[in-house]
This record gives sequence, C-alpha cells and structure tokens, in this order.
Amino acid sequence: MKRLPKITLEKGKEKPLLRGHPWVFSGAVSRTEGDISPGAIAEVYSGDGNFLGMGHFNPHSQIILRILTREREVLDSSFFRERLLQAKALREERLKGKTNAYRLINAEGDFLPGLIVDRYGEIFVLQCLTAGMERLKGLLIDNLVKIFCPKSIYERSDVSTRKEEGLSETKGLLYGDAILKPVEIEEYGCRFRVDVEEGQKTGFYLDQRENRFFLQKVSKGKSVLDCFCYTGGFSVHAGIGGAQEITLVDSSDEALERAKDHVSLNQLRKIPIHPIRGDVFEVMRGLEPDFDIVILDPPPFVKKRAHLVHASRGYKDLNLQAFRLLKEGGLLLTFSCSHYMDWDLFQKIIFSAAVDAKRKVQLLARRGHPIDHPIHLSHPEGEYLRGFICRVW
Ligand code: SAH
Repeated sequence: MKRLPKITLEKGKEKPLLRGHPWVFSGAVSRTEGDISPGAIAEVYSGDGNFLGMGHFNPHSQIILRILTREREVLDSSFFRERLLQAKALREERLKGKTNAYRLINAEGDFLPGLIVDRYGEIFVLQCLTAGMERLKGLLIDNLVKIFCPKSIYERSDVSTRKEEGLSETKGLLYGDAILKPVEIEEYGCRFRVDVEEGQKTGFYLDQRENRFFLQKVSKGKSVLDCFCYTGGFSVHAGIGGAQEITLVDSSDEALERAKDHVSLNQLRKIPIHPIRGDVFEVMRGLEPDFDIVILDPPPFVKKRAHLVHASRGYKDLNLQAFRLLKEGGLLLTFSCSHYMDWDLFQKIIFSAAVDAKRKVQLLARRGHPIDHPIHLSHPEGEYLRGFICRVW
C-alpha cells in the first residue's frame, strides 16, 4: 500500500485530538513528511510518535487537518459509503412522513468534515467546504447516486469560507437533469418551492423546521408577526395552524414575493396577510403593540468574536421591540444563528430586553438544532442555532 503523508504534532498538542476534537491547527504541527498537497489524506502522530488518526490536510488553512477516522483504515469509496448510510439511517428513522427535505450530511456533525448535503425530495444540493472534500467530489456523487438515486445533484459551493481553503466559489449541476424550476417540498403539511440555484444557503432554512412546526401548533386564532421572514417559512406554518392574521417583514423584495407565492400555494389567501418590505429594526418601531406571537429569526450578526458586543446591542434592540409589541400572555420565538452567541449570553440579552421593556417573562423552552443538523459533541464549533420560547406578561 502507498505510504500516506504524515504530520507530527508538537509535544503536548495532541490533547484536543485525544478528546475527540476533529481539527488540527497549523500552530500545533512540528513537521510534515511525504507528498502533502491541499486536500490529501494524511496520517497524524503525536510528538511521542503515537498514531492519532487520519484526515484531510490543507496547508492553506489554519485548520491544517480535519480528522476522518481514528483507526488505521483505508479511506476508500466504501468508507464514505458507510458514513453516508449512517447519516441516511438517522434521517429516515426520525423524519419519514414528516418532511421530504432535510440536511442529509452535516459536515463534522456526521463525521464528514467539510461536506454538506441537503435533500429536497429527489433533488440533492452538495456543498464542499474543504479541499479534501473537493477532491472527493466524484466519489461522493457516485455514492449518492447509488444509494439514493436522486434526479439531480446541484452544487452550491458558492460560500466565502472556501477562500480559507484556497478554493474559489463555484456552483452548477453535477449530475442528472437540469433544474428548470423551483423544487417543491413538503414539511409538516406545508408546501414550499425552493430555489436551489439562487436561494439563500442551499435554498431553504432547513434548520428551523421543528421551530416552524412548533409555531404551527400554537397559532390557532392568533395574530402573528414574522420578522426576517425570508420566503415565509414560519408564516405558512402559522397559517396552516389557523392563525387569524399574519404580518411578514423582510428586507428582500424577492423573498417577500416568494413568501406571497407560498401563501397561495398553501391556500391561505383567506387569512389577512400583510407583507412589509423594510428593515426589521425600523419597521418594528412603527407597529402597534397588538400581536399574540412574534418571531425573530435574524441572520447571523456575529461572524467574528470581536463583533459580539456590537451584535449584542442589535439582538437586545430586536427583543426589546418584540416585547413591546406583544399582548399579555403572548409568545416570543427568538433565535440567534451566530455561533459566538452562546446560550448564556443570549439569555442575558433577552433578560435585559425584558427589564427595559418592563415585561414579566416566562422562559418556556430552549430550542436548538434539529436532528438532521447533529453536532459532534467534541466539536462545539458546530453549534450555532439557539432559540428561546418566552411567554410575556
Ligand atoms: N425565518 C426564515 C429564515 C430567515 S433568514 C425561514 O424560516 O425560512 C434571514 C432573513 O432576514 C433573510 O431573508 C434576509 O433577507 C432578512 N434580513 C436580513 N437583515 C434584515 C433586516 N435588517 N431587516 C429585514 N430583513 C432582514
């Protein structure tokens, strides 16, 4: 067998790996041996010469290696097939009959660092975030086709983080039929049309599915304000759940047009619907305090730890306005999808907004990632979605 390139860590730098963390940072490496190009599979050893695992190497990235296995094994097509089958089993056991759209592979969370695969019925969307996965694209497509027989596989590797891996952004059809129109999906009885080629993320915010369904169950007879609505995911669930009136706010005209289309698709035209295009921060200030339910699902305000203080002000302002707009006994569903905003800080921000709004608030639930976005317990960096459901007096 061909010898794999090898990287050896500085003494004492093996501890995170021994605890299961899948990343090796460049500063921890003392030497590299062998033909070691970006995306190659390499072995990693401790300073004492103990084998620690094998993974994808990339000298361009601060994360110089991402562990694929801790065993000595051949990382061939059947290795990746096995990982795909494990991921498939989890989704099929838990989501069958509820939705035909879910995240099939969640990178580190499914022990496949650098790879995202989202499934929209028979259309799959693939995202390669690392040089290692980029090299394996052919093998991954082969396996996806053999296991799932998708109609098409579309690539959405148009993400800026690829730059850190020395890769340019790319998108396009990888396999099967051209995707001529939005892909129709069903989620807990709601229908959506997903634009996998141009939509945000890979077309839809799959990570909010269970929270949208929660809303569906509590919406009967309620007036709902859906802030940062995108294509109306929360609003459609509220409508299907029997909401009395729905106000949607987003800064994107196109997103609002799609939201209106979803209202018709789900036959919700009888419900009074008020789409507002604008900046949520400003729009909320102009609304009357007359809502039973407010949803706050903003984009990530904190992309770097250094932005945390500034972003915290933004989150506080939003939550303060939401508290102002809610009737007695109303519900706030408030989210952050910034990795650096941890549970503690987010709760403190909501607390401080409640104090300033002079409202008494009950915390009903914390809502994080759904099961198709698993987080590797040794890789807390994979956690980003945090939400609270609050009852307001
Ligand atoms: N809740 C949605 C996903 C929200 S994504 C769902 O379940 O599908 C965040 C949305 O916020 C995007 O559609 C983006 O256009 C919008 N947005 C970002 N900043 C905004 C702002 N300041 N005011 C209004 N909308 C904003």
